[in-house]
Amino acid sequence: MINHLSSQKNWQSQLSDTINRVDELLTVLELPELLKSSYSPKQNNFPLRVPKAFVNKMKKGDPNDPLLLQVLPDKRALQPVTGYVTDPLAENEHNPVQGLIHKYQSRVLITVTGACAIHCRYCFRQHFDYQGNTPKRQQQQQVLNYIKNQTDVNEVILSGGDPLSLSNQRLFSWLNDLADLPQITTIRIHTRFSVVIPERLDEELLAFFTNMNTNQVRLVMVIHCNHPNEIDDNTARHLTKLQRTGVTLLNQAVLLKGVNDDIDTQVALSQRLFQAGVLPYYLFVLDKVAGASYFDLDEQIAIDLYWQMMERLAGYLVPKLAREIANQPFKTPINVYHAIR
Ligand code: SF4
Repeated sequence: MINHLSSQKNWQSQLSDTINRVDELLTVLELPELLKSSYSPKQNNFPLRVPKAFVNKMKKGDPNDPLLLQVLPDKRALQPVTGYVTDPLAENEHNPVQGLIHKYQSRVLITVTGACAIHCRYCFRQHFDYQGNTPKRQQQQQVLNYIKNQTDVNEVILSGGDPLSLSNQRLFSWLNDLADLPQITTIRIHTRFSVVIPERLDEELLAFFTNMNTNQVRLVMVIHCNHPNEIDDNTARHLTKLQRTGVTLLNQAVLLKGVNDDIDTQVALSQRLFQAGVLPYYLFVLDKVAGASYFDLDEQIAIDLYWQMMERLAGYLVPKLAREIANQPFKTPINVYHAIR
């Protein structure tokens, strides 16, 4: 009990130990010159937010650090670019109940919270109306009732925001209620916490997962890791402990210009993930969200990179290269074979 309380304090205090001022971040990283190309998005709904635990994985004095580029507000985001919109996946059109998105036949997604440990500048939900679309405790039953009536749905995805921002008590309430629905066989959690503040995978959470996986519901966790530098030894240790609970561990990454668009980085990412017990699942090209166009790259570059990945990696270490297209009934694989070499 004492251990559990202390580890919980540990992740929660790390969560509060967060930088949300651009000048402070750049001072810590000894990069004052970057103040010119960045901006302080204090007035919008997507301010800078990065825990020091994640900043510690960045290299001081490196303006191109791949972890820094994922969080640093860049002035290029302020220029409107044709085709980049606030709801690139048309999620508003698939929102039958507050806090629930139903786009695909066999699965639904619940935005259980709008809170995240970190704000990623490429996030496709950076303009999402979390205020009006996060189920409060009293709306949980409404969400459950909706799912109960969808006989084709056998999987529920907890998303957000980041579901691991919730307290264990609140998270367990969702997991227990969902596991009680007769047709649900899989619950999937999408989170960035395991690479941002790995201590979030505390003993109480791991014990709950172990117990849950012995029942008929299988748990899947998709960690959102874009670069091998995000998995230091401490992170790898926590992921390995998580894997021992029986949770299926997968990764999805976004292909980001300047961050992970080179072959050595992608190879190292897949290898590092595997060493930590995580299988590469998806590599997505960027969703065309307003404010993130500067991360985008030509599809042909993605295809060329993918061929190199297939040459360098065993098949099980090559994630699926895909794009999410609004209103399509599945994630659309990118046809890597049409342009041949
Ligand atoms: S939802 Fe995920 S990608 Fe978006 S800001 Fe939060 S942690 Fe980052």
